[in-house]
Amino acid sequence: MAKKTKKPNNNSNQKPAQNQPKKPNNKKGFGFSVHFGSTILFFLLIIAVYSIFSEKESKVTNVPFSEVASEVRLGNVKQITVSADKLEVVKNDDTKLKSKKESESSLSEALTNYGVMPEQINKVIIEVKSQSGFSYWALALLPIFLPIGLIIFFIWMLSRQMKGSGMQAFTFGQSRARITNPNDKTNQVTFADVAGVREAKHELEEVVDFLRNPQKFLDIGAQIPKGVLLTGAPGTGKTLLARAVAGEAGVPFFHLSGSEFVEMFVGVGASRVRDLFQMAKRASPAIVFIDEIDAVGRVRGTGVGGGNDEREQTLNQILVEMDGFEPNAKVIVMAATNRSDVLDPALLRPGRFDRRVVLDLPDRRDRKEILQIHMRKKPMGADVNIEVIAERTPGFSGADLYSLMNESAIMAARQNKKELNQSDLVASIEKVMIGPERKSHLLSVAEKRITAYHEGGHALLASLLEYADPVHKVSIVSRGSAGGYTLKLPLEERKLQSKKEFLDDIVVSLGGFVAEEMILGTTTTGPSNDLQVSTALARAMVTRFGMSDAIGPMALESNGGRVMFGGGVDGQYSPEMSAKIDSEVSKIMNESFERAKTLLSENKNILDAIANKLVEVENLEQDEYEKIIVSFGIKLKKKLI
Ligand code: ADP
Ligand code: MG
Ligand code: ZN
Repeated sequence: MAKKTKKPNNNSNQKPAQNQPKKPNNKKGFGFSVHFGSTILFFLLIIAVYSIFSEKESKVTNVPFSEVASEVRLGNVKQITVSADKLEVVKNDDTKLKSKKESESSLSEALTNYGVMPEQINKVIIEVKSQSGFSYWALALLPIFLPIGLIIFFIWMLSRQMKGSGMQAFTFGQSRARITNPNDKTNQVTFADVAGVREAKHELEEVVDFLRNPQKFLDIGAQIPKGVLLTGAPGTGKTLLARAVAGEAGVPFFHLSGSEFVEMFVGVGASRVRDLFQMAKRASPAIVFIDEIDAVGRVRGTGVGGGNDEREQTLNQILVEMDGFEPNAKVIVMAATNRSDVLDPALLRPGRFDRRVVLDLPDRRDRKEILQIHMRKKPMGADVNIEVIAERTPGFSGADLYSLMNESAIMAARQNKKELNQSDLVASIEKVMIGPERKSHLLSVAEKRITAYHEGGHALLASLLEYADPVHKVSIVSRGSAGGYTLKLPLEERKLQSKKEFLDDIVVSLGGFVAEEMILGTTTTGPSNDLQVSTALARAMVTRFGMSDAIGPMALESNGGRVMFGGGVDGQYSPEMSAKIDSEVSKIMNESFERAKTLLSENKNILDAIANKLVEVENLEQDEYEKIIVSFGIKLKKKLI
């Protein structure tokens, strides 16, 4: 389903991108017709000049050689100028004639042949002009080269006109990146325009610092990340944040959407990539931003969808360009996607998009801040309470909140009001919610409570159990398909895990399931993933790590991912063994379930406190969370050894 809803999304992203270069098109189209007109004028002018010259010539009468001969015979001719086979005859009355002779014979020979007496010839001044090389060749070659020259000139004019215009036949290899100039303050976005996403901003500050002062980093030999990948649900502000980085750093920002690389013609994408990076390197320090990179960066070689070759070539070119940066090229590539799961692993390799910045959906506090940002240019009534709006909009993305504010303003304007009232805002919540895909990730009050208990269950068990990893963050803001999440991080990196740790991990995984059962009396589909993970872990303990007493130290499966499916090629064991494994796995699971149940019901009051706080604030960072459990007398974990 997620795939289906994505498609139209992509398209809608593509459209404005393609429309953009079209606007100047119209202008260019106009300019083009002007130039076309001037070209035609130019032609007419040449024709006119030519005809004037030929007219001048036509004043001199062209006559056959026989007439020249007879004029000479009659003694009417004063002078004949010979240049090659051309004759210019000046008569005694100063009229001029033009004629030609055969080129093989000399003039006197020719005249003699026509029966002119030598004495008559002698009376005439004969001047032989050897034609100067240049004019001879010019005259000979002009008829050939003039049209060719004109054609070349014409094509040159056309291609000059079409640069940057929509005539793709001439420009398809060029990048169509939109460039934001750092000196253009009108469109500038800074971090102050982006609310929430604190971790992402924090990560990106490093990038900003580098772009502002690259020498500082280069001097000390620091290698700066080449690529930063922004991931997050649609509308969480990925594009906005990328622009903010450019605004903060004050460097040129080359912005291109992944879909713009891909055209009808094979090879265009790759050539555009080359062009884009070339431009960026020339302008360095600079940021290249490839939005919606999943359009070109999907896993290669899957054979899904046509035009696969083209996409692969484009992707390859991006990889080549990123690898080709000299260590001191001050170009940082940023990319955004909401489908990082489909990206080609090659993109995520170190040295490419090795920094990954995740943008979460905003929690209540962030939503308030985002609303405040979009309130800035709108007159607000005295009755407006942003707090309430933020509370009522769980699951809204930044883009949703932006459109909420916008809808409210439209609503107020239609009622001819001078300012926005709370009622406009409240009414707009629904309007935005009804939009096609918003409903799915909007938690109802009941769902919010269940999710809070579920995550609270995980978190509390993690704090109670000796060998579980401590809690870093608890959230009921949905992420992907999960309703919420509890982030546990080990105190230190471990290579080996003990049986006790595994058992505690399983108990923690079951915490969500148990907590839901406790408050609902039944369970939801929420914990299905928890069950999968914990069952797989229990099975691995039995079949791979020799951690079950009944089976003992035997590895029945390798770690080739067979765990979930049982048996398989390398799981060659008897049906009895299979039954034994099953019973051992279910023993572990049941014991863990009982432990989880006992612990949670013994500490129900703490669970309630955590859940209530979660319903209220949606996100609990480590220190806020620890404050709650410490107030109930739970000791925080010390570093293990
Ligand atoms: P994405 O690229 O992640 O799909 P955008 O960056 O295009 O989302 O966000 C769309 C709009 O939503 C932004 O232009 C901005 O007005 C608003 N918006 C989104 N996230 C935020 C945020 N964290 N703070 C302020 N405004 C936001
Ligand atoms: Mg975007
Ligand atoms: Zn869970």
